[in-house]
Amino acid sequence: MKRPLPLAARLTIAFLFVAALFSVTLAAVLELLIDRQFRSYVDEVRMKKHGEIVRYFELVYAKERAWSEDSGTEIAGQAMMDGNVVALFDRNGGLLWGMDREMVELHYRMMGHPDSAYEEREYPILFGGERVGSVRVGNFTVLHLSPEDAAFRENLHRGVLAASSVGILAAVVLSFVLSRRLARPLLRTKELAERLRRGELSVRISERFGTSELDSLADALNFLAQSLEEQEKLRRQLTRDVSHELRTPLNALNALVEACIDGVMEPTTERLEDCREEIVRLAALAKDLERLSDLEGDVLALSAERLDLADAARSAARSFEPLCMRKGVTLDVRAEEGIVVSADGDKLRQVLVNLLANAVEYTPSGGAVLVTAGREGGRILLSVSDTGIGMAKEELPRIFERFYRVDRSRSRSSGGAGIGLAIVHKIVKAHGWTISAESEPGRGSRFTVEFPQA
Ligand code: ADP
Repeated sequence: MKRPLPLAARLTIAFLFVAALFSVTLAAVLELLIDRQFRSYVDEVRMKKHGEIVRYFELVYAKERAWSEDSGTEIAGQAMMDGNVVALFDRNGGLLWGMDREMVELHYRMMGHPDSAYEEREYPILFGGERVGSVRVGNFTVLHLSPEDAAFRENLHRGVLAASSVGILAAVVLSFVLSRRLARPLLRTKELAERLRRGELSVRISERFGTSELDSLADALNFLAQSLEEQEKLRRQLTRDVSHELRTPLNALNALVEACIDGVMEPTTERLEDCREEIVRLAALAKDLERLSDLEGDVLALSAERLDLADAARSAARSFEPLCMRKGVTLDVRAEEGIVVSADGDKLRQVLVNLLANAVEYTPSGGAVLVTAGREGGRILLSVSDTGIGMAKEELPRIFERFYRVDRSRSRSSGGAGIGLAIVHKIVKAHGWTISAESEPGRGSRFTVEFPQA
């Protein structure tokens, strides 16, 4: 298998590749453009020279009105210097005089010009609108450059080469620096993830990297670390709580049963009744734990049916009537008729029962508990409110977490282990509903479930 490369190396290679590709392309395009420009420049110069030669012969003819064998031979010297091979013809195409092509070529080479193609053109010589002869001009090169032109061109070549080399060098340095800067945050987050894996749940990334995705990644990891830390704390607290919840009644039961066996105490009906109450409480705790672990699975199996919300609210409330009567708490249901929701009947009842159990539990004698169901601004709402002891605002975001209890001593007396609302939350989420809580210490609380429109 191929060994994975470090990110910094990968980025450096990628940057270099792009920079090199860019430089080479740029250099090639520049070279091409320069070449073209030179070609057209040279062509222009050549055509100008040819034009001058033709004009010269026209002047000669105009002066002498006829051709002779040496008409215009004085142009030969300049033509040789320019690398041109000139030949003059009369109007019938007869050769009057011509330069020796090989001589010109030799001279041309001696001046340090490279090998090149030979090209010829013929131009008519006119006098008074009439063709009086023609001149043939040959060149030894397509790129007929003067030494200065060639030097200029060479300089441009060098400039392009130097610029691309500097570009590539700058890319090497920049890519090295940049890839390190980009890789560092990832290394930091990797480090954090590894420390989390080792169980160091208090580590966080405090610095900002200045790249939005990397900052979000750091935030997400920090959030994950915080959740893990809190879960871990809750888990420990639960173990402590559960063992305490179990130990106290079990010790009491054990002491009572031992005393009866030893004959120190009479097993009266009253004492046996106390024992039974403890056992019932223990059984309820075990059931809550079991229910929660059932809901912990990935997907909660729901058997959805169409339910009348008012019926569900009234039926759940009815089961709390004896308890409310005993406690001196009034219990009311105000439900709009005819609202149907899609829900798993048992689970909806569980939500209502848990909310009602809390409301009754945390409302002292003389208080009131109210269940309402109805439509409000196009939304279907079910709420359980009480006039009980309430909770501080800071507690509200956490009460749906499992094993979270606002005041551990207050719910211990009720036998609660901070599971009821966690169960409610799971059920609500599984159905796609939402739940919110409002509360004020000393005035009461309200829990509201919102259902999507049917
Ligand atoms: P518990 O089993 O301890 O009642 P819950 O998950 O049902 O656990 O509730 C979590 C915490 O929220 C409780 O410990 C309690 O302090 C607080 N709480 C829940 N409902 C109410 C309420 N109606 N009034 C006041 N406090 C409440």
